[in-house]
Amino acid sequence: MIDLFTPIDLPYEYDALEPVIDETTMRIHHDKHHQAYADNLNKLIEGDDSLASMDLSDLMKTDNQPIKNNAGGVYNHNLFWQMMAPSGTTIMGERTKEKLEEKFGSVEDFKTEFEKAGLSRFGSGWVWLVRDRNGELSIVTSANQDNPETEGAVVILGNDVWEHAYYLTYQNRRAEYLSAWWQVVNWDRVEEII
Ligand code: MN
Repeated sequence: MIDLFTPIDLPYEYDALEPVIDETTMRIHHDKHHQAYADNLNKLIEGDDSLASMDLSDLMKTDNQPIKNNAGGVYNHNLFWQMMAPSGTTIMGERTKEKLEEKFGSVEDFKTEFEKAGLSRFGSGWVWLVRDRNGELSIVTSANQDNPETEGAVVILGNDVWEHAYYLTYQNRRAEYLSAWWQVVNWDRVEEII
């Protein structure tokens, strides 16, 4: 099998996000789940030159559901690891604060709305802060491994609300995970994109 696609390395140690996200969850999430999306995708495109020449963004837009799902799985997790940083190593920048206040009223209101959206996503999926096609900040959710960039949005921040992302520590308490997760957001990265 050719390894066209591989998960990015974590930009920190497996235990670096503790206690918000435990080491075992990070190991399984990165080494097993993320790796499996890449392995499956590589198998699905093997031998098809037109598919093998496409990048993840293109593969996420194909009509082939298994390819779309696994390309999204690789892409979303590559983003996700970079969207986080060990607690206390980044703080929200001025530009981010201003933009969030302008759109949502306050940073707290933004967080509340984002958590509510993540909680209301039924089943597996993601909650995102995006710049939509009209240039407006917006909170959206997606099912499975879908990503709003396939519909022309720019992803600024996103949280994985699949149970595999939080179940070992939080069990069924997704709301608790969503609320704790702010501690490990990489605000430096948000500031660059927002
Ligand atoms: Mn995941």
